[in-house]
Amino acid sequence: NATMGHMETLHDPAAFQQKLKVVQTRHPNTLILGGYLEILGIYQHQMYQYPTNSGYSHRTQHLGVDFWLPSFTAIHSPFDGEVLFFGDNGQAKDYWYTLICRHKADDSYFYLLYGHLKETTFVQTGDRIKKGQQIAQIGDASENGGWCPHLHFQIIGDMLDQTTTFYGVCDPADETFWSHICPDPSWIFKEYIPHPTIKWNRSDLITKRNHILGKSLSLQYQDPLYIQRGDGMYLIDEKGQRYIDTINNVAHVGHENSAVVNAGIAQMTLLNTNTRYIHHMILDYANALLQTHDDHLEVAYFVNSGSEANELAIRMAKQMTGSNHFIVVQHGYHGNTNATISISSYKFDGKGGKGADDTIHVLPLPDPFRGKYTGKDTCDLYLYELKTILDQLQSKGIKPAALIIEPIISCGGQIVLPSDFLKRSFNMIREYGGLAIADEVQVGLGRMGSHWWAYQEQDAYPDIVTMGKPLGNGHPVGAIVCRQEVADSFSNGMEFFNTFGGNPVSCAIGLAVFKQIQDQNLMENARIQGTYFTNKLIKLATRFPIIADVRGVGLFLGFELCDRNNQPLEKAATTLVNEMKKRKVLMSTDGPDHNVIKIKPPIVIQQNHIDYIIDQLEIVLSNPIFTI
Ligand code: PMP
Repeated sequence: NATMGHMETLHDPAAFQQKLKVVQTRHPNTLILGGYLEILGIYQHQMYQYPTNSGYSHRTQHLGVDFWLPSFTAIHSPFDGEVLFFGDNGQAKDYWYTLICRHKADDSYFYLLYGHLKETTFVQTGDRIKKGQQIAQIGDASENGGWCPHLHFQIIGDMLDQTTTFYGVCDPADETFWSHICPDPSWIFKEYIPHPTIKWNRSDLITKRNHILGKSLSLQYQDPLYIQRGDGMYLIDEKGQRYIDTINNVAHVGHENSAVVNAGIAQMTLLNTNTRYIHHMILDYANALLQTHDDHLEVAYFVNSGSEANELAIRMAKQMTGSNHFIVVQHGYHGNTNATISISSYKFDGKGGKGADDTIHVLPLPDPFRGKYTGKDTCDLYLYELKTILDQLQSKGIKPAALIIEPIISCGGQIVLPSDFLKRSFNMIREYGGLAIADEVQVGLGRMGSHWWAYQEQDAYPDIVTMGKPLGNGHPVGAIVCRQEVADSFSNGMEFFNTFGGNPVSCAIGLAVFKQIQDQNLMENARIQGTYFTNKLIKLATRFPIIADVRGVGLFLGFELCDRNNQPLEKAATTLVNEMKKRKVLMSTDGPDHNVIKIKPPIVIQQNHIDYIIDQLEIVLSNPIFTI
């Protein structure tokens, strides 16, 4: 599996064949084995998906052994016996020409299955065979189900009423059962068959993690996942099971998007260095980034994360205004550095926090659903709260440095601001001499569906925009764009040097992300699928009153679980997320009361994914524990 390389080949049978041929040409004398009970990458493909009582699953665990040998290689029977079946079982990617022989051991029978054979007949159904007799040959792609030549060999203890074929791979969840039916072929080939070595299991890894990593790192889910690969909308665990990812707004254009990966590889083979040399990549990327922003945002800086972007924005605002007083939003989050923690109510008002510093002024969460003011027309009321803070500062002779806010409050629980609030609050902070900073780390880059950036969707005018997460599709890229005047005031003689920010590899990756969004029309996809998803969730809410609110824009959505008095149901939200995980859908909770299910998937999501998620939500929510 490792030699086969990138998942992309799995989507294209011709490419897969080609790759197998390359592997075999490079290693002509090598017997490549797919081991007994090994998890085989190929079976992670959708072609091998099947429905179970708890969502879909993949039969990824090998019940036989594979011998990768040239076609025409002769196969001899290891025992006396009789032929139960020889013929073509006829399904693409199955065994095609298959031989099943029956052998006697003491008072009972066992069976040997040989798959992917040549169509040439050596023995026929009903024939008696002798130990050492040639019984078949290894087939080629035209007769073996479209595979590169190899033999699938398996021992079967009980045919379970089958006569012409048998499962060659099983769902790892049923390993115990199937390994009893199909024992280890090492029984026959003791000396030749290596077992796949599974290096770690989940609990070993958790123990090790707890031992050598800081305890403040957390793991998601009651039964945490060991994720080994990504592929578009999916994360794949060590057993080859595919989970639809509705959480990851970093893997914006799909996990391990091959165009992005290849752009990174191509540039990494040429050069990766800091920005003290002239290079076209940073200019191309800055240009591409600025083109997506409103005209008044003319200058870009590159960093490595959302935290660094906000850190830089804080420095710029302080420099420009001469003030160190910031207005922040209750439950807002802006990063993990000293300065960004100090502007993140989510942290300083949360567990282990010490409250706001004297220079930080917290605006009540402008949540029209369960905030201080609720209902349709709350914009003026929340603006009045902002004005009160600013007036109080003014009365003390204090000028604000900036208001920093996300256009949709993410960690606060996917809070869609009252209409016009962003625009008017930005105008208001400027009237008092401060800057408006839009934190687009989570919401930006086409996710809104209608615009590149969420501030544009709300017709707001920021002085600085900070960005991160999706820019590099998983590679660490952060950026800010700002007005010329802000950039000029920041350039006070002190050099801004960032070892990695804006390096050619990061810029090549960033450019590839833009290109993917454009080439695949992903902004439009975010709009179409976001609307589809929202409508489905609204419909679900009419059936299940526990869903108290559905909100969001584009593919930045959330729904909130409450009781009949609109009180938050944290436990129900946690249970829902864990149940959905069992059904191969990754979701997460957030918000001050941890009762909001956040939905912010890669924007390559398609209708079939949404239909599956909704179907599974419907099944889970039908459990009486979710009745209110
Ligand atoms: N701003 C917002 C709104 C965020 O959600 C985050 C990360 N969750 C950050 C900033 C910090 O980004 P990073 O973790 O990349 O430093």
